[in-house]
Amino acid sequence: MLNKKSISDLSRADLDGKVVFVRVDFNVPVDANGVITDDARITAAVPTINYLRENGARVVLASHYGRPKGQVVESMRLNVVADRLRELIGGRVEKVDDCVGNSVRSAVNSLKPGDVLVLENVRFYKEEEQNDPGFARQLSNGMDLFVLDAFGTAHRAHASTAGIAQFLPAYAGFLIEKELNFLDKAIQTPQRPLVAIIGGAKISSKIDVLKHMLAKVDVMVIGGGMAFTFLKAQGYEIGKSICENDKIEEAKAIMAEAKATGKTIILPVDSVVVEKFDNDAPSQIVSSHEIPVDKEGVDVGPKTVEIIKDVLKTAGTVMWNGPLGVFELPNFAKGTFAIAEALAASNAITIIGGGDSAAAIKQANLSDKMTHISTGGGASLEFLEGKTLPGIAALENK
Ligand code: ADP
Ligand code: MG
Repeated sequence: MLNKKSISDLSRADLDGKVVFVRVDFNVPVDANGVITDDARITAAVPTINYLRENGARVVLASHYGRPKGQVVESMRLNVVADRLRELIGGRVEKVDDCVGNSVRSAVNSLKPGDVLVLENVRFYKEEEQNDPGFARQLSNGMDLFVLDAFGTAHRAHASTAGIAQFLPAYAGFLIEKELNFLDKAIQTPQRPLVAIIGGAKISSKIDVLKHMLAKVDVMVIGGGMAFTFLKAQGYEIGKSICENDKIEEAKAIMAEAKATGKTIILPVDSVVVEKFDNDAPSQIVSSHEIPVDKEGVDVGPKTVEIIKDVLKTAGTVMWNGPLGVFELPNFAKGTFAIAEALAASNAITIIGGGDSAAAIKQANLSDKMTHISTGGGASLEFLEGKTLPGIAALENK
């Protein structure tokens, strides 16, 4: 794993009695009454928390929650999260109403080995997102070790994700370790052929992913809204489909690069089109090379699905990022769901990055059929772009 130290390298002798500051991602969704609707982010942190507890550490948890923008917002306190964590781990879980200062110090002092303290939302301080060194130092006060387990914010250089590592020995938690193992291995030493399926609305948001992944993959499938910029670059009529005209040259360059390096790019051959962007609008399946001028493409068609399925039959590894259609509307979700089913049935290693792709798979009830679904949409994207995530970069080298 990227040559970074992880808590697997820490034994009881290293942890017993120590105060360990763990940056987790407890930014869980809640309903209108503030009740947690999905606690996956909390359960994902439990292996790290319990490993530290079992080895006698005193565990201090920090997270952001919502977007309070540097102020105290009552509805964005972490109390509901602390309550849920208490139910999940059954041990002593305290909560303090600040993340720095005297109240934290005295709460930490009363922790016994195996106890947990949940700090208040770190984004109540504007210094958090500014990665202010003074604030990072305050966070590190009274702590012995830093563990990063918030993959979803590892791409942000904030005080509690990266800055604090200047003041404490810094280790990856199990969640980070798992994410890096899957993502890094799938890109650097994949079981081949490596197939990338890249979709989503905009080519501009994925251009760096496309470029970086093209160098790694054997086959690249491009679907979703961004496919239309490629189809237009090839000279086809795309009607009213979403298109970024200022990215046509880049699309051409990517296709030329694929040709020069012997990589296969697969674009949709048929599309589901509508006149009006509405779930109940009458739809038609047409050739992706001749979309009627008054229609827009909202999903890949059945021929395209068959072509992709065929590629998946022999794939060793599949990385999927971005839905192939407007999957939020049930009538335009068929292509995305068909590919999700094909991935579920495939023997390939299947890695899902991207928030909307993960949501689509969850909606299709196929989450447990994938090898790995990344917990960090933005972070996994930046990873696929070949960028170094600041939170990861700040960890100790092996
Ligand atoms: P991810 O979060 O998995 O990285 P993106 O955010 O890049 O994915 O893209 C998801 C969005 O792309 C969805 O909201 C979906 O509606 C949109 N999309 C997919 N296909 C099309 C299309 N043909 N036209 C317009 N939008 C599309
Ligand atoms: Mg998205």
